[in-house]
Order: sequence, then C-alpha cells, then structure tokens
Amino acid sequence: MGKNSNPKIYGVLGYPVKHSFSPAMHNAAFSALKINAKYESFEVKPGELGDFLEKSAGRNIIGLNITVPYKEKILDFASLDPESNYLKQIKAVNTIVKIDGKWKGYNTDIAGFSRHLKENFTPSGKKAAIIGAGGAARAVAYVLADSGAREIDIFDIDKNKTKDITCMIKSFFPNFKINAVDRIEGLNIKNKDLLVNATPIGLKETDPCLVEEEVLHKNLFVYDLIYNPAETKLLTLAKHISAKTANGLGMLLYQGMLSFKIWTGQDAPQEVMRQALQGELNARNSN
Ligand code: NAP
Repeated sequence: MGKNSNPKIYGVLGYPVKHSFSPAMHNAAFSALKINAKYESFEVKPGELGDFLEKSAGRNIIGLNITVPYKEKILDFASLDPESNYLKQIKAVNTIVKIDGKWKGYNTDIAGFSRHLKENFTPSGKKAAIIGAGGAARAVAYVLADSGAREIDIFDIDKNKTKDITCMIKSFFPNFKINAVDRIEGLNIKNKDLLVNATPIGLKETDPCLVEEEVLHKNLFVYDLIYNPAETKLLTLAKHISAKTANGLGMLLYQGMLSFKIWTGQDAPQEVMRQALQGELNARNSN
C-alpha cells in the first residue's frame, strides 16, 4: 500500500460511544504494525443505522465494533457464517467486517470474556450470580453455561430481559440450571463462587454499590465488566474482605485483539494494545 493512499477506516458504532477506549487501543496497534488505517468513534442515532452503513463505502469504512444499542439490530444488515449462526439466538454481534461489499458479523465479546475469566477462575462446576441481563450479560451467561458452570442466578431491574436470557440459555443447554430472580437478594451471593456485574452501575462516582458487604465472602470471585473506573465500589468492597476480583479491562483487550485479527488478518500486538488501554485509563483519571 502506498504511503499516500487513503487509510482504511475502522471504528466503534453505537449511541452513545464517547466513553469508548477502543480508539486508543486500535490506533496504537495500527501504528505499531505500520498499517495505514484509522479507528474512529461513530455515534449514530437510532433510526440512522441503515443510512450510516449505506454511506460507509464512500468513507472507506471497512470494519466496525458494534456497541449498545445495536448489537442485535446489526443482524438486519450483516450476514453470519454457518458456524456463527448461534449468534442470532444470542442476539449479540459486536464486530462486523466488509467483505466483497457485504457486512459479515462476529462476536468477540464471548471469546474475550471467556479468555479473561479463565485466566483468573475455573467456571466448571461453579455457582454464579449475574447482575444485569443486557447484551454483555448474554455473552457472560453463554460462556458460563458452555464452560460447565453448575448454575446461574440472574437479576435485572427489567424482568423481561432476565426471562429472555434464561430462554436463550435453555435453548442451547436444555438441562442447564439458570434462574431469573425478582430481587437482588434472590441471587443468594453467600452461596455462590462467582459474582459478575453486567450493569453500568458503578460507572459514575455517584452510583451506589449494587450489593451489601455482608453478602460477599472471601471465596467469591467478583468480576465487574466495568473498566473505568478500574475499581468500582463493588470491587473495593470485595477487596476489603479479601475476595479475588477482576475488572473488564482484560475482556476489552481480548475482544479487541480478536476484532483486530478479523479485520486485518494479522495477529494483534497484545502488549501495545494493553499499554494503550492503561494509558487511556490513566489519562482519563488524571484530571
Ligand atoms: P445493557 O445492554 O444496557 O445492559 C445493562 C442491563 O443492566 C440493562 O438490562 C439494565 O436495565 C440493567 N440494569 C441497570 N441498572 C440495574 C440495577 N441496578 N440492577 C440490575 N440491573 C440493572 O449494557 P451492556 O452492553 O450489557 O453493558 C453492561 C456493562 O458492561 C456496561 O458497564 C458496559 O460498559 C460493560 N461492558 C464491558 C465490556 C468489556 O469489554 N469490559 C464489554 C461490554 C460491556 P435497563 O436497561 O432497564 O436500565
């Protein structure tokens, strides 16, 4: 590729997307591998998704990460490989790539969460509680059921979403024990091995802690999908009682590396991307 040719454009598409760390991570990777490409944030209003994708060719946009609220809606515009067809049921496509003028969909959140979780915790035979039943929770529940967890209790303020996730998991794993609970207390965290926060509660400094300290215990692994702040109130409480914890930065890194490989065909530079994420986190918290 000539130095002066137009850069290929990649980006994150959602509404809103201003908080995303992905531009820093992917632009660092492009730069390190000397790829003539740019990663941008595309904030697209509901109702304007089709128009945006149609005009993407003229802007040389060839790969996108998809975030809230379009992870299901994007299925109207992207095709799936036969082996990725299960994503229709999970209703979660977070990566698309343009091949021969057509968008193709993938999910890298599932493998990203799975890799990071398993570096820290063995889900097989374990009891899990999930707070939140949105797009990310669908990936989390799928990974846990697929990895042989013993059971999941799941809570969301929207009961329809927990019901929907329960049905989705049962369609893949008919004998898997997953219960939608009506109240957060119903999660019975005292009796669990893993607690996952898959809500946005904790992003803001003024957010409350989702659970009381009394229900946490030192044998619990507490995974918060939030990565900024690096330590939510939930993680602070968990650390206080010596429970093992992780935030979502590792998941973000691993899903990003997989998206990078799908788009460029090249292995993602892990350390460069990790450092870019850490740099972004430091920069956002230094003001
Ligand atoms: P989402 O689709 O909006 O789902 C969040 C769910 O949590 C919604 O159903 C929401 O209900 C529910 N909720 C809100 N407050 C609650 C509460 N107090 N108790 C119980 N449920 C509550 O968002 P998402 O895409 O799944 O993302 C969830 C979180 O994960 C976000 O913080 C996101 O940044 C993070 N995430 C991280 C990564 C990563 O790579 N680390 C990847 C994806 C997502 P309502 O819609 O009714 O408010």
